[in-house]
Amino acid sequence: MSDTAKAVLTGGCQCGAVRFALTAPPAKISICHCRMCQKATGAPFASFADIAKDDFTWTKGTPAAFRSSSIAMRDFCAACGTPLSFRRIEGPHIEIMTGTFDRPDQIVPTRQYGTESRLGWVVGIANLPSQTTQQNYGSEKMATIVSHQHPDHD
Ligand SMILES: [Zn+2]
Ligand SMILES: [Zn+2]
Repeated sequence: MSDTAKAVLTGGCQCGAVRFALTAPPAKISICHCRMCQKATGAPFASFADIAKDDFTWTKGTPAAFRSSSIAMRDFCAACGTPLSFRRIEGPHIEIMTGTFDRPDQIVPTRQYGTESRLGWVVGIANLPSQTTQQNYGSEKMATIVSHQHPDHD
């Protein structure tokens, strides 16, 4: 793929130095609770869109990579630190962190893995007291905040 014209899904890191595009929908979308994914993302769990490498291109920049085990690499943006992927070394697929897609609402997981490390409170988050960002900060404060993140499009 040489351009983003036929991209079906796009995304990238928070600073915009690294961007990617897919020419086909992900083969599988899943959550991983394993301890290695918790450390790699700095989050309670990771969520991944599994994509054939033939359907995937880095369209801007090249991510840095950390070899997190003897079988896998994890790509990230060297400029802003956003975790971007998990991939088996020499494997035919790449798994992209779903929060980095421009439309993460379209990337819906259907399986979860690594449940031996799933934190006990995760299943209950829908029941926690909830606020929007606007409710949390208030509209006056919200109006003063300037995002330095790349917008959700190329
Ligand atoms: Zn970045
Ligand atoms: Zn994992």
